[in-house]
Amino acid sequence: MSNTFANFIDGEWVDGPDVSVNINPSNLDDVVGEFARADAEQVERAIRAAADAFPSWSVSTPQQRFDVLDRAGSALLARKEDLGRLLAREEGKTVAEGIGEVGRAGQIFKFFAGEALRIGGEIVPSVRPGMTVEVTREPLGVIGLITPWNFPVAIPAWKIAPALAYGNCVVLKPADLVPASAWELVKIIAEAGAPRGVVNLVMGRGAVVGEALVSSPLVDAISFTGSVATGRAIAARCVESGKKIQLEMGGKNPMVVLDDADLDVAVEACINGSFFSTGQRCTASSRLIVTEGIHDRFVEAMKARMSTLKVGDALVPDTHIGPVVDAKQLQQDEDYIRIAREQGGEVFGGGRVQNAGKGYFLAPALITGTDNSMRINREEVFGPVASVVKAKDYDEALVLANDTEFGLSAGICTTSLRHATHFKRHVRAGMVMVNTATAGVDYHVPFGGRKGSSYGPREQGSYAREFYTVVKTAYVAA
Ligand code: NAD
Repeated sequence: MSNTFANFIDGEWVDGPDVSVNINPSNLDDVVGEFARADAEQVERAIRAAADAFPSWSVSTPQQRFDVLDRAGSALLARKEDLGRLLAREEGKTVAEGIGEVGRAGQIFKFFAGEALRIGGEIVPSVRPGMTVEVTREPLGVIGLITPWNFPVAIPAWKIAPALAYGNCVVLKPADLVPASAWELVKIIAEAGAPRGVVNLVMGRGAVVGEALVSSPLVDAISFTGSVATGRAIAARCVESGKKIQLEMGGKNPMVVLDDADLDVAVEACINGSFFSTGQRCTASSRLIVTEGIHDRFVEAMKARMSTLKVGDALVPDTHIGPVVDAKQLQQDEDYIRIAREQGGEVFGGGRVQNAGKGYFLAPALITGTDNSMRINREEVFGPVASVVKAKDYDEALVLANDTEFGLSAGICTTSLRHATHFKRHVRAGMVMVNTATAGVDYHVPFGGRKGSSYGPREQGSYAREFYTVVKTAYVAA
């Protein structure tokens, strides 16, 4: 075997015909590693291995599945410092954020270890005499998992763990940009005792590896997280071939700040939600909808707080905001800042950070004087960029919050129980936050959105079983 990090197919580490070079976005001279890129033939082998492993894994005992997942969870938690550092090095979130993400992945494995023991069914009296009805859940078969670059370990974890807990076999295709964390994760699961073929890793390009997963008749379901355009194209293909599909996609998440908000609470929630993890979160607060009475004080306090944030090398402990993930994303962020300015917005911050080293460093940007029809408020930027929209009152703020094609997360900062209660009920988003950032969620409850942000059953928590199992109804005549 060469020095490249190989694909994992049918229990073997296998080099690919090509490699991708994983570069640290904080230091472009630092090569994290060379990672094999699979071709369609290797993807087919991985799928076949998963299909061959399924008959045995699908009838393994809950104890066997608990043990594998629990051991993997323990290993992730034990190694969260070094894996968190690796994650920060390849993706650019800070070390603290990287360690937090690996810890979360460990907790997810622990949670789904428990779920493997909690798969029950129902016995229902029949409406007909002498008959009993049983309702049970069964695994689907082979599941293709396609993941984005911004949570290189947590998203693969929250797809692999439930898939395995309920008895499925998987083929994971991580983002080409950040394969190192996924590679370590798969190694940990294999070492935790997952039988040969149950977990397979095929790295590489979406158009090759992802495409081969989506087009294979042996794949029963696809769970995808990524952009809207890719997700919709994959979904259409899956519907044609009858695959079950789950999509988690973009956001343009509103954070409403009302006149009666605690200003310090609102500013911290917005700074965190808009700029931490370099704003590269699907749940980032990108539209700050602020009522007239607090608007000017809020904007001034945001600017003051932004000036205290240190942008720099993700691996340096006092960095608050790491680099943008790559040159293409940096270009996209700067394009949106320019377009917002051209459409009449006033930009604070948002420049390249000099003296931070050879990386993709962008200062956080706050764009004021925007209205909700501007592109900056319609389209996902996916960077440390937030815009402010002024609203007359709560009623108008709610209308603006809902005036978007997305519906992942939404927040409100207020001390009014009446407004908080009304907002929770009437904002059209999958997740609602009161006096806390729109990003940052628990690992044991459902995650997902509505409208253009999500499609299909929820991920995470016990709700994950809707996607990863199929219901069987059995009639037994006594
Ligand atoms: P992307 O859509 O470019 O890529 C996602 C994955 O799909 C990658 O693994 C990619 O290689 C693969 N892919 C690309 N083309 C494909 C094809 N033709 N067939 C099959 N697979 C293909 O997204 P990205 O840039 O990696 O991630 C950023 C996006 O992810 C943002 O829009 C963000 O909002 C979204 N995201 C959503 C959530 C959520 O849970 N809602 C979480 C994180 C990120």
